[in-house]
Amino acid sequence: MNNRVLVIASGNAGKIREFSNLLQQLPLQVDPQPEGIEVEETGITFRDNALLKARAVAEATGHWALADDSGLSVDALGGAPGVYSARYADSDPARIQRLLRELGDRNDRQAHFSAALCIAAPDGSVLAAVEGHCEGSITFRARGTQGFGYDPVFEVKNSGLTFAEMTLDHKKQHGHRGRAFALLKPELEKLLANTPSQDASTRPNL
Ligand code: IMP
Repeated sequence: MNNRVLVIASGNAGKIREFSNLLQQLPLQVDPQPEGIEVEETGITFRDNALLKARAVAEATGHWALADDSGLSVDALGGAPGVYSARYADSDPARIQRLLRELGDRNDRQAHFSAALCIAAPDGSVLAAVEGHCEGSITFRARGTQGFGYDPVFEVKNSGLTFAEMTLDHKKQHGHRGRAFALLKPELEKLLANTPSQDASTRPNL
């Protein structure tokens, strides 16, 4: 029997690689989303945005689709940048600069990363929705060279290290995406066990 298709609702090659890697033990055919699908992230929560993307791609392809949305929320900034994390400024260094500027010399620097993962079916139903978090604080200056985004200014609680000072494995273990995926995996396994897979020959071409 052919494996069920799961389309990764992202145009980002890095994300598609990361998810393919995380899903490789499961009986799934993981496909990238077809070109030309643009989904506006109009949600006000990470979950809303993940759901919007998963639904749009599932409806367009006729397959289950997995989407994620993530970002950094800083308590003293009322949760900003939050769902606007990617749109806070034009580049990673500019986003970090803006964050440090807005926080100034405040001592209340508590923050957390969130990652929402959602799987939708072509009829628009939500098959799974989970959210992982990582608690920490915003440093006074950037530290470390690994990772991306806000990694150099986010110090993970009780670790003394920023994400940018951690190895990828360490970040996967403690990070918001790794935690969200650890929640999603058993749900996906249950779904796969309870839903007959489809015949790949009847799939529309992606
Ligand atoms: P999206 O999930 O692709 O919409 O992007 C969320 C934005 O949040 C990214 O562009 C980064 O700026 C930020 N972000 C999400 N996860 C991480 C992370 O693990 N490290 C650093 N920044 C992150």
